[in-house]
Amino acid sequence: MKFAKEIFPLSTKCLDGRAMKPYEIVLTADRSFMSDYHFLPFLKGLRFASTTLLDPFIFFSFAGSPVPAVDGIALLAPYHTRRTEAALLDSGFDRSEVAIATPEKICDLIGPNTKIVSITVRDPLNEIHHYSLLNPLCKESYSSISFKKLVRNLHSLRLAKEYNFKIVVEGPGAWQLANSEDMGRFAIDHVIIGEYITKAIPYLFEKIIEGEHAPQVSHANCTDINEIPLIRGGVAEGRVEVGRGCNRHCRFCHAARLQCRPLKDIVAEARVNSQCGQHNITLRNNDILNYGSTGVRVNRKAVLSLYGSVSKVNGVKRVDQCYLSLASAVSEPSLIERSPTSSGQDPRNIPTLQC
Ligand code: SF4
Repeated sequence: MKFAKEIFPLSTKCLDGRAMKPYEIVLTADRSFMSDYHFLPFLKGLRFASTTLLDPFIFFSFAGSPVPAVDGIALLAPYHTRRTEAALLDSGFDRSEVAIATPEKICDLIGPNTKIVSITVRDPLNEIHHYSLLNPLCKESYSSISFKKLVRNLHSLRLAKEYNFKIVVEGPGAWQLANSEDMGRFAIDHVIIGEYITKAIPYLFEKIIEGEHAPQVSHANCTDINEIPLIRGGVAEGRVEVGRGCNRHCRFCHAARLQCRPLKDIVAEARVNSQCGQHNITLRNNDILNYGSTGVRVNRKAVLSLYGSVSKVNGVKRVDQCYLSLASAVSEPSLIERSPTSSGQDPRNIPTLQC
């Protein structure tokens, strides 16, 4: 395979690590997504900024410190990576076969039996326009540079050790790499596109492991929101998805109709996060006040039940949200004031708004 050595000179920096326990499937994400950014949304957004802002070494040392890990296994991971892990475990893969590795120690978890290394990406080539305010001249971003460093190290390892694992890219930014030029340039074997990829992942991974034909670029079908597998480990930022879509139907927007996850699944994922030390839970929806709504009007009972149930999970100290529509907030201002106390939460833990 043609690989651009002129862009990524062969590195053996991570080849000296002792192989602790190789896994058949190793999941990971680049360093810019393997950090909780000290729970500061502004710092997290800076991963899409130009590296001319601050030297990457300094940025990652102070702003984007690595997630905690044990023997290279990440204790916190991006939500998408956790979903992939959960889909594989639910489909029958054993825990001893699948691991989420930190990018710093990933080489220690790869061995001759490793068949797949899968990278979750979000904006690997600086092509998401709404991040352009942070990078107006489209220079290399922290996200991009850390993705390239990761694939460079993986490919160097594969060449040096003569391993045969396939490099798979999936996640919200996978579409940026779904062309033969970039796949060749970054030594990527398979790209899986689709926001709801959980159903397709086990099927494709089985094919790759068995050496059967698997398309280089796959477009996965949507998964029903009720079938989303429950995460098995902590998520950076303690994030829990509560719904997808929007009921406002603006003419220029293709957002699907709102689907909300069952409360029991949301509580279960909050519990997993709490057990993994993520005591601040961030509920994720296009508009958190739309939870349980069948139209555009706020469903007060459902929203209060959501906050009340999550805040009562053992160990949860605070419940945040992203995002919230100002239209919903203006239509039901008392809901925001009432939600913490109605659930019995300490007033000091009033949810903060992240619009
Ligand atoms: S409110 Fe936003 S997400 Fe909803 S339909 Fe309009 S543009 Fe799309």
